[in-house]
Amino acid sequence: MFLEKDSHNKSQGWIEVICGSMFSGKTEELIRRLKRAKIAKLKVEIFKPGVDTRYSEEDVVSHNATALHSIPVESASEILFYANDVDVIGIDEAQFLDDELPNVCEQLANQGVRVIIAGLDMDFMGKPFGPMPKLMAIAEDVTKVHAICVRCGSQAQFSHRTIAGDKLVVLGETESYEPLCRACYLKAKEEKSLATALDDNQDGVNQNLNV
Ligand code: ZN
Repeated sequence: MFLEKDSHNKSQGWIEVICGSMFSGKTEELIRRLKRAKIAKLKVEIFKPGVDTRYSEEDVVSHNATALHSIPVESASEILFYANDVDVIGIDEAQFLDDELPNVCEQLANQGVRVIIAGLDMDFMGKPFGPMPKLMAIAEDVTKVHAICVRCGSQAQFSHRTIAGDKLVVLGETESYEPLCRACYLKAKEEKSLATALDDNQDGVNQNLNV
């Protein structure tokens, strides 16, 4: 159960951040808040970065398939263009948007808009992701949601990538990532570096054999 300011006074805007790892329910929580705003007859607009095309071109869809219509944007400043006469703005997968996003959100909140942002707080290497740290700093309210560690059942906050490579954005997340707690994440990283070292060793052996 999350508590948030439900009533919206037109003269007062603010910023809310919902963050966490993959499979932590960020989008579900964003959709829940936006649906309540719609019930309250507020004008709601939802945005997501154009890069996130996993499920649908235009809908914000959570893993449990609740959907709200959204506008895909290539840059954060595009949001200002669509935000005329809006009471509440939702932004999903905000980690993929550019560094202009905190300024855009601040500008909207100063104009009286309630801005609700959902995004990954950390990338797969456990580093703060894109504009999220700054958004968390300037927000009135931050909710950190958690997944369940698939290895031990504890509360998970890391999105561990199960495939090789260091590219930051990999689509088709369900096969490529697993939520892990800190202890299991550290263990998984250790296992991976051990496997890489063994691979390198094997390559060396093969090269020697070739000579
Ligand atoms: Zn664990």
